Amino acid sequence: MELLFATGNKDKLKEVKEMLSNDSIKVPIDIGISNFDVVEDGNTLEENSYKKASALYQLTGRAVFADDTGLFVKALDNRPGVHSHRYASANATYEDNRKKLLDELSNKDDRSAYFETVISYINLKGEVFRFTGRLDGYISEIEKGSGEFGYDKIFIPENSQKSLAEMTIEEKNQISHRARAMAKFKKLLGEI
Ligand code: IMP
Repeated sequence: MELLFATGNKDKLKEVKEMLSNDSIKVPIDIGISNFDVVEDGNTLEENSYKKASALYQLTGRAVFADDTGLFVKALDNRPGVHSHRYASANATYEDNRKKLLDELSNKDDRSAYFETVISYINLKGEVFRFTGRLDGYISEIEKGSGEFGYDKIFIPENSQKSLAEMTIEEKNQISHRARAMAKFKKLLGEI
């Protein structure tokens, strides 16, 4: 079955492709939609993931899913949360966002945080399904590892010595927020 993933994020796509045995997963650019861009102005991960999935479903009528993810830091009243993508500024790079977060936490003792992913899936009939996954951990004092994706260099999962950026993609996919949400989605698809 063909599945469309409503994303332009190469890092997410790489992880998700490893998780699905379904090899016919496509992104908008693969079907000639080069300007797929949804304004992520919802107040929750649920709203934003639904916005992305439904925009692509409206355009194509195909089975689509979208992922919206945030990093929630306890000492910062759960910021950056739903604003994780543009935390430092409208055009922030991954590095700008990590720097801002480390600066803000420089005088805090409690560095606990969690990632949450919400996946919205819309099937061919237009029925909507939602799956969530969460990974608890804490924010390191310095960047660790070579994986460039988002906040991975500064996030240490609970019961781990390594940051997410020090893990192989297989290691990250065994525990991550995204993998936990995808596992529920895969159950629905009959993959597990
Ligand atoms: P989005 O709104 O779902 O695209 O994600 C918001 C931001 O969260 C991204 O721009 C990344 O900086 C960050 N992010 C999402 N997923 C991950 C992850 O698995 N690891 C680290 N950072 C992530």
